[in-house]
Amino acid sequence: MIYLDHNATTPAKPAVIETVASVMRAAGNASSVHAAGRTARGIVEDARRTVAALINTDPKAVIFTSGATEANNAVVKSFRGKVLVSGIEHPSVLEAAPDAARIPVQENGIVDMGWLEQNIEGASLASVMLVNNETGVIQPIAEISRLTKAKGARLHCDAVQAIGRIEVDVQKLGADYLTLSAHKMGGPQGVGALVAMPGTPPVKLIHGGGQERRARAGTENVAGIAGFAAAVEAVDIAAYQKLAALRDRIEAMPGIMVFGKNAPRVANTTCFAMPGAPADTQLMALDLAGFCVSSGSACSSGSVKPSHVLEAMGVDAALAGCALRVSLGWNTTQEDVDAFIAAYTKLAPNWKKAA
Ligand code: PMP
Repeated sequence: MIYLDHNATTPAKPAVIETVASVMRAAGNASSVHAAGRTARGIVEDARRTVAALINTDPKAVIFTSGATEANNAVVKSFRGKVLVSGIEHPSVLEAAPDAARIPVQENGIVDMGWLEQNIEGASLASVMLVNNETGVIQPIAEISRLTKAKGARLHCDAVQAIGRIEVDVQKLGADYLTLSAHKMGGPQGVGALVAMPGTPPVKLIHGGGQERRARAGTENVAGIAGFAAAVEAVDIAAYQKLAALRDRIEAMPGIMVFGKNAPRVANTTCFAMPGAPADTQLMALDLAGFCVSSGSACSSGSVKPSHVLEAMGVDAALAGCALRVSLGWNTTQEDVDAFIAAYTKLAPNWKKAA
């Protein structure tokens, strides 16, 4: 099997698996006052410092959560009044803010800054992701934060697909809230963080005990948090950038159309369509041939409906229905990519015939 779906989940790095296993063997409850509890507390606080350092903030800003879905919900559900969210956000933002106005994106997948400038007045919150999970397109967050700051709006940025791939410095970005998830960067599933910068309004979703400085109730996932920190320690952005050369080999395949190609993108992601070849047909054939890829967003795959991201970019529904996402990662080799290209080019004529 060749796994090329790192934007859905990146396989855990070996150091992460070892850390999680060793912490699970020993951990107590981080709220207990006895020795085992204090050890667990130490692990959680070390991890908080590690995560904070990666994004250049104070550890106090980091609130561990069950993942990015929770962090996104916590932020967007906490703001009333005029809320703006980009049309290409993850469903954990879009579904959590059903009444929010949608910030349109241009054909290249970048948010329409002119629209934002005209509509930011009076907004309490804007939510724009740093990197789109389907196309890999990077959004101009620092520029957006200048607008939100000038108009007194808060800015939330889902940085799930950016962390470990490009520099994510929350100070330079100017975001008030940042969302992170461990399993997109080689950590375990079911753990992430909400970064809430000093002085920002509290955004509490889960009520109960006093954990996470009363910002998020529930026993800390000590092993998961330790695994998250181990993944942060293994970040190697320079190595990640090299994936661009492998991605470009895929994008040179004949007969495909690449989305967001002329926008700044992360190195690992390509979203392309072969006109006339339905995505579900492609997915099934590639799966049988031993390749794990995705059509549109993994979170909505299973039901193959055209991607809301491509729709927001103005791609017509028929073409969007033929779109695949291939996402590379830390363990992807040139052999993997060449095997994919060989299989794809061999299978492609069948898909067109069947359609
Ligand atoms: N935001 C983005 C951009 C994502 O790609 C994902 C995962 N598909 C999420 C949020 C949700 O993350 P989690 O699985 O940690 O809830």
